[in-house]
Amino acid sequence: MKVKTLKDLNIEGKRVFIRCDFNVPKDEFGNITDDRRIRSALQTIRYCIDRDCKIILASHYERPEPGKYEEQYSLAPVAKRLHTLLKIKNEIFMAEDVVGEDAKAKAQKLQAGDVLLLENLRYEAGETVNDEGFAKQLADFADFYINDAFGACHRKHASIHAITKFFDNEHKGAGFLMEKEINFFSRVIENPMRPFIAVVGGSKVSGKLQALNNLLNKVDKLIIGGGMAFTFLKAQGFEVGNSLVEDDLLDEAKNIMDKAKELNIKFYLPVDVVVAPEFSENTIVKFLPTQEIPKGWFGLDIGPASSRLFREALGDARTIIWNGPMGVYEMDRFSKGSIAMSHNIAQTHATTIVGGGDTADVTQRAGDADEMTFVSTGGGASLKLIEGESLPGLDALR
Ligand code: AMP
Repeated sequence: MKVKTLKDLNIEGKRVFIRCDFNVPKDEFGNITDDRRIRSALQTIRYCIDRDCKIILASHYERPEPGKYEEQYSLAPVAKRLHTLLKIKNEIFMAEDVVGEDAKAKAQKLQAGDVLLLENLRYEAGETVNDEGFAKQLADFADFYINDAFGACHRKHASIHAITKFFDNEHKGAGFLMEKEINFFSRVIENPMRPFIAVVGGSKVSGKLQALNNLLNKVDKLIIGGGMAFTFLKAQGFEVGNSLVEDDLLDEAKNIMDKAKELNIKFYLPVDVVVAPEFSENTIVKFLPTQEIPKGWFGLDIGPASSRLFREALGDARTIIWNGPMGVYEMDRFSKGSIAMSHNIAQTHATTIVGGGDTADVTQRAGDADEMTFVSTGGGASLKLIEGESLPGLDALR
């Protein structure tokens, strides 16, 4: 059954519970450093404000110990940022708890168009164990349940899964962000304009094995970078020094390369790498062909020749999906391959879809985020869709 979206529901003047994903990065002083996830939720919230709803927002934030209300995990800074971004006169009410006295009292007092943000859902033990009792308490806040937390939809948690049991099909649905995320991924993966190219990087093959296997059945070209490239290079017989390698997956890597050949999918690995004698920013580096990685050294980024090769390969793309950085981009010295990949993808005329928190971060740093067709807010959830898996949060809305 098709998932209902906000526009299919008669929410006018009603109490609406919106599950958001406000799990935003903060610096050591508690400042929000990237508010993309909050901005992405605005469309849904504004739609409800304009329809005079009483709005109850809920999200998790990182991983606090349940039962302990530690300030560093509070959503209070999100309420402030939300107020700035929504540009509304009314304050955003911030509950001091999740389903306690304060949240209930504040929810009772809401007027049409008011917004209340509950505290971090994970302060309550029931959230991560999908507890029905806790979900019922959340459900009691509202007449309608809207899930707009794409980034959390791959988890069977109470506010994502169990809560949906307390709303019938006329009273639950997906928010606009969720609708956009799902549409982009399913449309692109199922029915891409060709050539369709996947660029996959990040740390390990194991984390993306299922995604790689699923992509093999869909793409025309597969470009591999990042730490995972070394398992493929080793499987081809290259010396990879101390680079990240999963020895137990060498056969699997060979299988993937064989299958690519069989299916006539063009398969690209880095032809040069940035290597260092230690995994550190303050060390010497060398730019070497992959044939010349010294024993004991670490491959920490793709080299300039690989960036040029990959740019050539991307030239005729009509659809590109990118998940995973090309190197240890968190360290400036090893970020050039990822930044170049971002520029290369942004400069194509293809539909470009970026998934995964790190990859989205790279495009942001490279100044390319606005040039991409779509940057997904959910890392794990978007990977699940690339793997061809369904999402518990989405299934629960059906
Ligand atoms: P993932 O979560 O699997 O997408 O991996 C992202 C992480 O991969 C980032 O933190 C990168 O620092 C890391 N990474 C990328 N390339 C390498 C590499 N050559 N060696 C070690 N780690 C890497």
